[in-house]
Amino acid sequence: GLPAAPPPVLGKRRVTRQLRVGAVGVGSDFPVSVQSMTTTVTADVNATLQQIAELTATGCDIVRVACPSQDDADALPQIARKSKIPVIADIHFQPKYVFAAIEAGCAAVRVNPGNIKKFDDKVKEIARAAKDHGTPIRIGVNAGSLDARLMAKHGKATPEALVESALWEAGLFAEHGFHDLKISVKHNDPVVMVRAYELLAESCDYPLHLGVTEAGPAFQGTVKSAVAFGALLRQGIGDTIRVSLSAPPMEEVKVGTQILQSLNLRPRKLEIVSCPSCGRAQVDVYKLADQVTAGLEGMEVPLRVAVMGCVVNGPGEAREADLGVASGNGKGQIFVKGKVIKTVPESKIVETLIEEAMRLAEEAGPQ
Ligand code: SF4
Repeated sequence: GLPAAPPPVLGKRRVTRQLRVGAVGVGSDFPVSVQSMTTTVTADVNATLQQIAELTATGCDIVRVACPSQDDADALPQIARKSKIPVIADIHFQPKYVFAAIEAGCAAVRVNPGNIKKFDDKVKEIARAAKDHGTPIRIGVNAGSLDARLMAKHGKATPEALVESALWEAGLFAEHGFHDLKISVKHNDPVVMVRAYELLAESCDYPLHLGVTEAGPAFQGTVKSAVAFGALLRQGIGDTIRVSLSAPPMEEVKVGTQILQSLNLRPRKLEIVSCPSCGRAQVDVYKLADQVTAGLEGMEVPLRVAVMGCVVNGPGEAREADLGVASGNGKGQIFVKGKVIKTVPESKIVETLIEEAMRLAEEAGPQ
């Protein structure tokens, strides 16, 4: 038959320059990628590589490591070599670590113009070293560390101030013929952040890295990031994303991946379609949905599993899904590809769904 049409997306991608962060292409020719940042002391090579491995297993595309000291800089060559995903060194304050990171074979370096005052006279050398090694640079402007000059001019970290800082720094690199740049203009307020990225997107064709900075604990940070990224990705703005959470970085990757999947910017894998429950529910839907989600975690095969509390919308949704249950009267009707295959007692719903999901995944073969 004909190949399936790609799933619809909301906005056309903004056309950008392309660059490579290690093996990962970044820019409008490539899928939007998910980044996170390790929380280990970078100089602790084993702990850092262990966390990078966990991030990789969770689906992280690119990882960033902090480099605040010489010990951290010394650890970069080993980390860059042993990581299975590209490693970006995150440098504030000290230009010498930028050179160290480039020489260490890091896939990219992130610099913060607001925090590297001595930078401007070093840009030429940095541009040359980065060009020689094929290392892209991210100019990471952050509301919390905006250049004092721009702070004085704009009064606070407005969208215009963030963008002016980023473009000014990019201009310094461009003067030296260096364009392998990715830019971010992060703010903790999604409204300011979205406006800043919109302005930036109009003013340049560099790929953009999205982030709501200091977004907060998991719940608030997830909502802020999802709303802000959604508003931008809907306009095709954003080439890499990082969800910042005051939570383990693996959680950031799960949220980032889910945001991209929700917008069809990445193939959906396991998707649980569960009802909110209501006064008609004849089964504990929350518990059922949680148990099914936990039982199927890590499933690599695209699968829609419907978990419905009663027969009002239950059979309809369960039929639309690959697999589903519609509960009622202490029993669950199990649907596979639209057909009731069996009815099981409530206590057997979870294990039956997991069993059937595994069987479908096996039938689908390796992805
Ligand atoms: Fe309520 Fe049934 Fe709809 Fe769930 S499926 S929300 S229990 S009506």
